[in-house]
Amino acid sequence: AQELLIRTEKLSIAGELAAGIAHEIRNPVTAVKGFLHLLQTGGASKQLYFDIMASEIQRIETILSELLMLAKPQAVHFQSRNIPALIRDVITLLDAQANLNNVRILTDFEDENLCLECEENQIKQVCINFIKNAIEAMPGGGELLIQLARGDGMLFIRFVDQGGGIPEHVLARLGQPFYTTKEKGTGLGFMVSRKIIENHNGTVRVFSEERRGTTIEVSLPLDSASLQ
Ligand code: ADP
Ligand code: MG
Repeated sequence: AQELLIRTEKLSIAGELAAGIAHEIRNPVTAVKGFLHLLQTGGASKQLYFDIMASEIQRIETILSELLMLAKPQAVHFQSRNIPALIRDVITLLDAQANLNNVRILTDFEDENLCLECEENQIKQVCINFIKNAIEAMPGGGELLIQLARGDGMLFIRFVDQGGGIPEHVLARLGQPFYTTKEKGTGLGFMVSRKIIENHNGTVRVFSEERRGTTIEVSLPLDSASLQ
């Protein structure tokens, strides 16, 4: 198995992002403008134009909501949260999507009382991103195992999927804003997740083997209360 150690240094993403955002949002805006023009000049397939415009606007909304996660004030609402409960909440949220894709989500939690000083919604967002990626990596269905373990003052959350793995050339660009191999992907999920984890003084590691699957391992320092 190959392992890629994801850098923990702060990313200098602002400049890279600005160009990416402009590009990614210009495309759907151009499309909507074009269809508005067609409607004005009395095109026949009104319903189709509306559908395309709605889906392009939805795309802008998705990109903006992912980016907003980065803009949230940092280290403001850190509170002690029970992580098993938090993960179960997220699983409930994504259960329908998993079922639809014949993906079974299994859990293996070492300790039900693990608490973490965190920004709850951001950690949820991280879990959502990694679970979605796992589901999307298994188009023919499979199992996603979510493990929770502790050791050396750290909390480990592992997302173990049975998907096709991440090819070397994709691994090299993982976390680069807007890099996606999916038709409807934004290429923001991994970058945003890593940024959030870094804001919690944690790290992400990726273990992937082609045709076997991928394990995303999130390591976060535990707060002192849960270490007793
Ligand atoms: P998106 O999901 O919108 O494409 P991400 O930043 O979440 O953006 O992921 C970037 C790319 O990394 C994906 O397009 C995919 O090719 C690859 N990837 C991420 N997670 C996995 C996984 N668990 N298995 C296989 N490939 C993955
Ligand atoms: Mg994703």
